[in-house]
Amino acid sequence: MTEYDSAPAEVGHEAELPEDHPRYQDLLTRHRIEEGVKKGLTHLQGMHAEGRGSAFDYLLGEETIESADEAARAAAATLLLAERPVISVNGNVAALVPEETVELANAVDAAIEVNLFNRTPERIDAIEAHLREHGAQSVKGQTADAQIPGLEHARATVDADGIYAADVVVVPLEDGDRAEALDRMGKTEIVVDLNPLSRSPQVADVPIVDNIIRAVPNVTAHARELAGRDEETLEAIVAEFDREAALDAAEARIRNGELS
Ligand code: ATP
Repeated sequence: MTEYDSAPAEVGHEAELPEDHPRYQDLLTRHRIEEGVKKGLTHLQGMHAEGRGSAFDYLLGEETIESADEAARAAAATLLLAERPVISVNGNVAALVPEETVELANAVDAAIEVNLFNRTPERIDAIEAHLREHGAQSVKGQTADAQIPGLEHARATVDADGIYAADVVVVPLEDGDRAEALDRMGKTEIVVDLNPLSRSPQVADVPIVDNIIRAVPNVTAHARELAGRDEETLEAIVAEFDREAALDAAEARIRNGELS
């Protein structure tokens, strides 16, 4: 019997998932993505992306490694220093961490913008409604009056007063082309991605190699702890963060870590 044989195949509500299951976080993530697809938030391709992430999380031991925690702290400091921070939300992010995203936005005074790879008006509406149900007061992404240079139209569309004008963007689970295009625009990018070799974390100023369900609340916790610190202290935290070392540490853990 594999460990998966002991997990219920059909789960009506996530509270039914066995918390003592060795792969509880994976079951939770899969369940949320499945619900996201049913609710019209998540594209079917999002399931594939999740499967890829889940393999890396398995190898990381489904825990926040030290370098990811340092990245989360640097991300919090970066966001507290930002003038126009925006958190980009796609179908997987909306399905996995809606409430946690709103909490992070409130903690660092950031805007939230729906930004989809497979953009349709129905999915934008569904994700906006879902975020509002989870406490968001304001959600950008509907105006769609600006284009990120260097990408085809649908993928490039953003709000002029949102991602287009942002100085710092949080792009969890972002596609590599768009992460590179945002980088070319000179944005400071905070990327959450379980694959340290993927292009998005490779171009990020602050790559957080961690599962988004752990990373977003962790950045919020650091932001709350750092709130009120002077600019010099925050700038020192950002300057001390070594993105290459963080990527290397994550890759080393994935390649050499012991499985629990
Ligand atoms: P790139 O184009 O940057 O090389 P990719 O093709 O590897 O990216 P996609 O398939 O577009 O990436 O996006 C999926 C990415 O999201 C993968 O790198 C995967 O590891 C990551 N991912 C999936 N689920 C999660 C999660 N729950 N938390 C963090 N990262 C995740």
